[in-house]
Amino acid sequence: MLFRSLVAVAALFAASPALAHEPGAAIQTAAAAYVRPSNAERLAVIVDQLTAAGLPHEIQTFEGGNQRSGPMAGSNVVVTLGDGPRDIVLTAHYDAVKLSDGSMSQGVVDNAGSVLAMIEAMKTLKGQATDHRLIFVLTDQEELGLIGAKAWLAAHDKSRIHAVINADVAAYGRTVMYGENNGGQSGFVLGALRAQCAEQAVDCVAFPIYPPSDDRVFSAAGVPVVSLGTQDAVGAHQMWLAFNGGEDNGLKEGFVPPVFQRIHSKEDKLSYLNGDDVARFGRFIVDLTLRLDRTAAEQ
Ligand SMILES: [Zn+2]
Repeated sequence: MLFRSLVAVAALFAASPALAHEPGAAIQTAAAAYVRPSNAERLAVIVDQLTAAGLPHEIQTFEGGNQRSGPMAGSNVVVTLGDGPRDIVLTAHYDAVKLSDGSMSQGVVDNAGSVLAMIEAMKTLKGQATDHRLIFVLTDQEELGLIGAKAWLAAHDKSRIHAVINADVAAYGRTVMYGENNGGQSGFVLGALRAQCAEQAVDCVAFPIYPPSDDRVFSAAGVPVVSLGTQDAVGAHQMWLAFNGGEDNGLKEGFVPPVFQRIHSKEDKLSYLNGDDVARFGRFIVDLTLRLDRTAAEQ
């Protein structure tokens, strides 16, 4: 009886296409590839993964660097899907930060997780009919001062941009964090996001003050934008308190939210990434993109 059940279960597994294409497990494997000693090698990983997924891409180089690094060439990776008179832009930086000892952070939480969520979104959105052109920009040199995003926007007609979705620090957890501090022009983007959170019963946490990422390049230019991240519920709320709770935030003296102990250090490791959570976040980004595709901007 036991034997027969096992055989039946084994047959069930073998027949299940969902298991053969389990996105979480594949993402876990894909994430390991990003642990590389240079950002140039991380770029090569993205190119490999986009090529394997059949996603056409373009590398756009720019003259970047900052005072500390000196002049440094950078490379954004751009994937354009569909067409339309205006654009929805999706951004996530792929560069990892150089640590004080000269080595590179593994850059998994910050920000390979978001890059992988974006690649999942590209796979789903490829071939879908949208009223907007979708432009994914995987940016370089975010950690040096949002330089890749600035270079991309400088070369792009910003009046074409309907909305921007930025993702940073998203490798685990099912709580979606978002910033409300990107200007009045971003109101309709927040409205679409809040409606989606409510309809899908996703735990979304609004941050009046949210840490800066590539989103600030767009809000500074008056472009509608939202910046998203994910975390476990406790971590998201601790981060909310740290940024928005003021002096009496209730956190212990000297408390640093765990995510800030991890990123920009040797602790930003592969073991924190949860492939299923990244896949879920990728689907969330797809749904928000399609929602914004049918949402008019406020006049
Ligand atoms: Zn980041």
